[in-house]
Amino acid sequence: EAARELSFFFPKEQTLAVIKPDALNEHKDEILGKIQEECFTISQMKETMLSKEMAEEFYKEHRGKPFFEQLVDFMCRGPCLVMILSKENAVEEWRAMMGPTDPREAQQTAPNSLRARFAKDILQNSVHGSSNQKHANEKINFFFGDITEELDRPLQGKEPELER
Ligand code: UDP
Repeated sequence: EAARELSFFFPKEQTLAVIKPDALNEHKDEILGKIQEECFTISQMKETMLSKEMAEEFYKEHRGKPFFEQLVDFMCRGPCLVMILSKENAVEEWRAMMGPTDPREAQQTAPNSLRARFAKDILQNSVHGSSNQKHANEKINFFFGDITEELDRPLQGKEPELER
């Protein structure tokens, strides 16, 4: 109840976050810990193995770029952890936590960011986050279907389901 009243004054925003295959093995707990520390609510979470078709659709904005094929292969290399994160200014705050795309830049300009700490290189850069609200809604829909009605109910602590 209290949370509902507060959310009237501080409306929450949702973003789509992904722990990519390179980081899920080695850094899952640290990344989830950091998300909790920064007071995001994990509204939905699932571990999922992307098919080639799903990865191509997910990154369709980059179709035709020189790194597109590698990117699709990389995203299918192992399971991803896909999450809906809720917080005031969630889109911007999650992007700030991630840091710049290239970890070499991240280490210079945002040494505490997830990519500075966990990314291997510009391709295998540990996490994804939507860059604006439109993309966030589109990708939330892509992974979780139209569940906007359910987003008020936090599911924190729920074990991710492995979908294959
Ligand atoms: N990427 C890459 N080489 C590049 C740029 C991007 O391999 O030169 C990959 C990287 O994994 C990145 C993803 O493609 O996270 C999407 O690129 P975008 O420019 O959207 O970066 P992001 O929004 O993830 O920071």
